[in-house]
Amino acid sequence: MAHKLAAGNWKMNGTRADLGQIMALAAAHPDPAVDISLCLPATLISEAAQHVADHPITIGAQDCHSAGSGAHTGDIAAQQLLDAGARDVILGHSERRTDHGEDDALIRAKLVAACDAGLRPILCVGESLAERDAGRTLERIGAQIDGALEGSDGPPSALVIAYEPIWAIGTGRTPSLDQIGEVHDFMREQLKARYGDTAAAAVPLLYGGSVKPGNAAEIFGVPNVDGALVGGASLKESDFTPIITALSAS
Ligand code: PEP
Repeated sequence: MAHKLAAGNWKMNGTRADLGQIMALAAAHPDPAVDISLCLPATLISEAAQHVADHPITIGAQDCHSAGSGAHTGDIAAQQLLDAGARDVILGHSERRTDHGEDDALIRAKLVAACDAGLRPILCVGESLAERDAGRTLERIGAQIDGALEGSDGPPSALVIAYEPIWAIGTGRTPSLDQIGEVHDFMREQLKARYGDTAAAAVPLLYGGSVKPGNAAEIFGVPNVDGALVGGASLKESDFTPIITALSAS
């Protein structure tokens, strides 16, 4: 069975003044039954990691470069994130794919770099509304997973995959539970075909896209949903805690 994971994605939000939210989260979950990760702006990683050093919460980043070092102005290598205190890294988020033109080959290279550095990769996949309306959702998800995992004999170390329909991110819209279940079953089967039943079962499959305290429990009741990647509702401890509690009760 995969570990349950509640991961927050702060995106380009937050300054040091907001670190109190992380302290409050650590106080609210001294010994959580689920893994908790907060993927923060790079500016906050080091200080946040020091704050949660004695708590069962990990700090993550939202991207890394595919190279280990070099002339890449403004970018950050996986090893540097690890050095700053990050333990997780989101890769292939739809906002990176759109804003920075990231394709599956680049995401694959970043995934290899993240694993080589010892970071836990949270690989994001998801379809656009046009792709869903055209009946191409599973084809799109399959291609994104294949593209990111190409050439790997076994699952990249500690791999996590997050299904995030682009049209559900930050919109307040969520797919039906059947739609979530269809994609999560498909992803599990795809991993089984690639790596075998045991290895596939150990990969946490997260749902992401407008997860809120009010809809978390029903989403976590869907088979093959092992947790959530949460954007807006991870910014405040008072919103994130009920989501974590719902996951732990699922
Ligand atoms: C995200 O962007 O990863 C996300 C899930 O955002 P939100 O929860 O705000 O829809």
